[in-house]
Amino acid sequence: MMTSPHSILKTTFGYDEFRPLQEEIINRTLEGKDSFVLMPTGGGKSMCFQIPALIFEGITIVVSPLISLMKDQVQALRGNGIKADFFNSSISPQEENEVIDRAMKGEIQLLYLSPEKLISVSNTWLKELNIKLVAIDEAHCVSMWGHDFRPEYTQLKVFRNSLPEVPFMALTATADKSARKDIEEQLELKDSKLFISSFDRKNLSIEVRGMVPKKQKLQEISRFVENKRGESGIIYCLSRKNTEEVADYLKEDGHSVAFYHAGMNPEERERVQTEFINDETKIIVATIAFGMGIDKSNVRWVIHYNLPKNLEGYYQEIGRAGRDGLPSETRLYYNMRDFVLYSQFAEDGANSGMQKEKLNRMLQFAEAKSCRRKILLSYFGEHLTKDCGNCDVCENPPKDFDGTILAQKALSGIARMQEKEGITLLINVLRGSNNAEVHSSGYFNLKTYGVGKDISFFDWRDYIVQLANQGLIEIMYAEGSALKITPLGWEVLKEGKKVKLTYPVTAEEKEKRKKKPKVVRMVDEGEVNQDLFAELKKLRYSISREENVPAYIVFNDKSLKQMASELPVTENQFLAISGVGMNKMQEYGEEFMEVIRNFKQVAKPKKIPTTLQTFNLFQEGKSPEEIATLRELNVATIFSHLSQSYSEGKNIDLAQFVTKEVVSKVKNAFDELDRKMELKPIYEHLGEQVPYHEIRISLTLILRDE
Ligand code: ADP
Ligand code: ZN
Repeated sequence: MMTSPHSILKTTFGYDEFRPLQEEIINRTLEGKDSFVLMPTGGGKSMCFQIPALIFEGITIVVSPLISLMKDQVQALRGNGIKADFFNSSISPQEENEVIDRAMKGEIQLLYLSPEKLISVSNTWLKELNIKLVAIDEAHCVSMWGHDFRPEYTQLKVFRNSLPEVPFMALTATADKSARKDIEEQLELKDSKLFISSFDRKNLSIEVRGMVPKKQKLQEISRFVENKRGESGIIYCLSRKNTEEVADYLKEDGHSVAFYHAGMNPEERERVQTEFINDETKIIVATIAFGMGIDKSNVRWVIHYNLPKNLEGYYQEIGRAGRDGLPSETRLYYNMRDFVLYSQFAEDGANSGMQKEKLNRMLQFAEAKSCRRKILLSYFGEHLTKDCGNCDVCENPPKDFDGTILAQKALSGIARMQEKEGITLLINVLRGSNNAEVHSSGYFNLKTYGVGKDISFFDWRDYIVQLANQGLIEIMYAEGSALKITPLGWEVLKEGKKVKLTYPVTAEEKEKRKKKPKVVRMVDEGEVNQDLFAELKKLRYSISREENVPAYIVFNDKSLKQMASELPVTENQFLAISGVGMNKMQEYGEEFMEVIRNFKQVAKPKKIPTTLQTFNLFQEGKSPEEIATLRELNVATIFSHLSQSYSEGKNIDLAQFVTKEVVSKVKNAFDELDRKMELKPIYEHLGEQVPYHEIRISLTLILRDE
């Protein structure tokens, strides 16, 4: 009998439920049909081909261009007792022979290949295999229009045609409409069905900070991480030099930080990555090469030190934060220099037009004055009906004003400087600055000199960028970024056409107005015992060293946290932990349960009385309702705990939960009923109008105050 996808999900991978679309995709594949899977990073794409691979009798071929990732994925599969191998340029000829041997003997369920290897062996031994499914990961690489085009991918078409009866699955996290069409054509998918899961990652807050000078940027970042001590985060930089600079700066401020870039040797890179995964290093400053192959669930924030090249890359990178579903912050810094630099790169590269177009979209996003998540998601073809409430624009909605005069001042400044100068000099002239450049240029004689004294440099820059965005000014990057007036700008200057501008908001103001993150608790997290969690992490680390695999391959953070909250000590309890399948149970179950048992022994005498537990949570600022949910108790019980703590002399503002009128009503009833300490008669005396918990609180207040 065929094992069902759901039972494999549970016994092999240790998960209880499919994520949206996974089951449909699996079923379609089992019917032998082609699929196109578009899901965000971390969405669970791999499961879609891994489960059919375990059901089919034969081999599944997985094509992926990410050689570094292949090894991890194969290790992860093996950790779950699955027969997986990889075949790419990183293995020796002898290893190659071993893999081929196993494949020919039918001992491999999933074989990962790089596209170039696949092409080179597709006419030799690969032809002999009983291939049942082909998964093309990172399928956007086949599209010339994508940002990550790999020529080898285009040859996959031949491979596809050699296996007309085998289902193909294309998977990617990034493909706009035209790229999707291209991918389907290039891979000759037949009657394929498109599966798109939502790309909205609601737990990620989005913030963009434009035109921040370098020194200020470093200070802001230092302050940002200072507020997040002990939490993991990634800072993405454009250049290797930058990663080292930023890391040094933060190190001087006493942060746990390392840099990571392609110029380091592989061992060093491996070490930095492992230390990050194991929480030994909290912050990584990296070029974009970092993060591709890691499944670290507790990255709490991501900062972009420079403008990313396109929205696809940006979304993928911020997506590395908050995979556990908890609130996480992202912040993007950009300035015009990044933009100009990239534009120049794009100039000489292949696909120059396309790259520039994507870069422009990136810039538009950065400069947007409307909900950023809406813009981002609409780029990926998803349309939000409401503003998100979790981006900087939503938190500080722009306020506009009639900026016509202000615009005219700037425009006339540009005109009088013969459209030859850039933004800095223009602002200095408008503000009547006395610096050397203004002097040597002679611009202090202009009529516009000093007409904008009352506005700060920062605000002027913001306004001028707004004028550029509205198409009144053009920035001529090819001419030293000189500002030119467009026909629309001339209309404003000469004919008084109205202009709307919005007030700039400073970083400090934003910080001040920032809402406290909503606490989104993981459904299955419960209360994690931090000491036990730390011990479990230690055990995981030592196993990962012994077996020479990354720690998360043993168990991911989410599994360890669940262990530290549910304290499983029997095999069945252990299997109920998310991410624990049969194989991991057998391999590691005893060792982990041993730690948990010891912990329980030691922890027992310290059991905190239930009233005190409630009181402690209340002290932390939780509301009675929140405490009730957390402790899985009645709200009435919580109030009785609080009343008791109050009677014992603890400092609780109980009066906030009842009105003065209620207290005096209860007092009267209490007196009339001969001051008997029973709630029910009072409840009835008051016509069943006052809830029990309010009566209890009132009594507590009455008695302690007497
Ligand atoms: P993607 O390839 O889309 O970036 P992965 O396939 O690596 O994502 O999956 C991300 C994480 O989610 C992995 O740790 C995976 O084990 C986990 N995962 C996948 N499907 C499920 C599921 N149904 N329930 C719980 N976790 C899942
Ligand atoms: Zn928003």
